[in-house]
Amino acid sequence: MIQNLRLLNDKYMSCPRILSGHPQNGFPTKAFGNDRSLFFAAKHKHFETSILFVLLFIFSLTSCAPRGERTPLLLISIDGFKPEYLEQHPTPNLHRLMQDGVLAEGMTPVFPSKTFPNHYSLVTGLYTENTGVIANNMYDPKSKEWFSLGNREAVMNANWYGGEPIWVTAEKQGVKAATMFWPGSEAPIKAVYATRWMPYDGNLPYSARVDSVIAWLSVQDTTRPDFLTLYFSGVDDYGHRYGPENKDSMAVAVGLVDSMIGYLLSELERVGWLGNINILVTSDHGMAQLSNERVILLDSIIDMDDVRMVDWNPVAMMYAKEGKLDAVYNALKKSESHYTVYKKEEIPEIYHVKNNDRVPDIMMVADVGYAITTKKMFDERGVGGGTHGYDNRSKEMQALFLAYGPAFKQGERIPTFQNIHVYELMCSLLGLKPAPNDGHPDSLRHVLR
Ligand SMILES: [Zn+2]
Repeated sequence: MIQNLRLLNDKYMSCPRILSGHPQNGFPTKAFGNDRSLFFAAKHKHFETSILFVLLFIFSLTSCAPRGERTPLLLISIDGFKPEYLEQHPTPNLHRLMQDGVLAEGMTPVFPSKTFPNHYSLVTGLYTENTGVIANNMYDPKSKEWFSLGNREAVMNANWYGGEPIWVTAEKQGVKAATMFWPGSEAPIKAVYATRWMPYDGNLPYSARVDSVIAWLSVQDTTRPDFLTLYFSGVDDYGHRYGPENKDSMAVAVGLVDSMIGYLLSELERVGWLGNINILVTSDHGMAQLSNERVILLDSIIDMDDVRMVDWNPVAMMYAKEGKLDAVYNALKKSESHYTVYKKEEIPEIYHVKNNDRVPDIMMVADVGYAITTKKMFDERGVGGGTHGYDNRSKEMQALFLAYGPAFKQGERIPTFQNIHVYELMCSLLGLKPAPNDGHPDSLRHVLR
């Protein structure tokens, strides 16, 4: 922890101009490019301006210039960002990346379309049944331990994470990695951490996250990372609270993240990296609107004393207590409306989830837009604005994939693809030999120049 805090502070020394002109509290005041034009507008003489520009250019080359043979790769996650938001809300900075890069119509998440499973499949190229990260809440029958996002001990325990995330692949092959938050990055998977990583802190301002990435890229020694991550949660938070169809609220969250992309681009340009770094802007899943009219009250169907719940909504996972499996399953089957119930062995292969010990006896998958709850919980807090986790093939659950940088085609649009292929793409961009995975090396070759 101390070492990581020091790394965060080191940024202020590695590139002397890193503190200048960045927005406070995560709310930037200018979109991409405005800083520079305002700055130069204050200069009266063209000659002085030119000299200053040359000096700044030389400064950027000598102090924070791109070095090395490998083009760095920055993997960004905007949690819960639906591709539709790009059209529904002003997103000038993401549009700039779209214009000069590759945009997928959608990216199909793994099932269930939840945060931890999908972030982790993105960086391992594995389906959930092969990572073991089968939900945000899990029970492991072998270790008899529980996992939840708020359980710090579990989140930092490598035993929960199967496969090999890209930062481990990189470090094992001598390529340095730095993670500005990513599910799995806080655990020593295969006994390896990224050279730089941060314990998750949802309160860390977005601008500080961008500053860290810029600082890490500006390191002047062999620890400079060639693989980096950056994570923003606000769009998902607002999606849950207000629902994706609440245009005014979503515009606030989408606008903030877009402006942070703008800040990132202006900072990359300032330190001389723009045009020399490949950037993937992704999301883990989409978001569906909920309604108090679309509710499945589990306790009105089964006796809750007959089950032990592992996860709830919109994919309910449960163990039946001894001797109760058929009774619970039959009751759920009889009332099957706006959801589908499976015994473990009946879960469709296409979900690529069932062949894992952590999948319990019974799984209920709600129809998109429906919520699974109990009468008590519903009376207390309703169902909220939106959620995700549904059938990963549904339109509402599709995620964002946008690629920008020297490796990628310009102005290209590609059809929807499954997110397990991103790991192979990243390995190929970084010149790494991939670990065994479920993706295919050719699946995303068409995004490359
Ligand atoms: Zn998420």
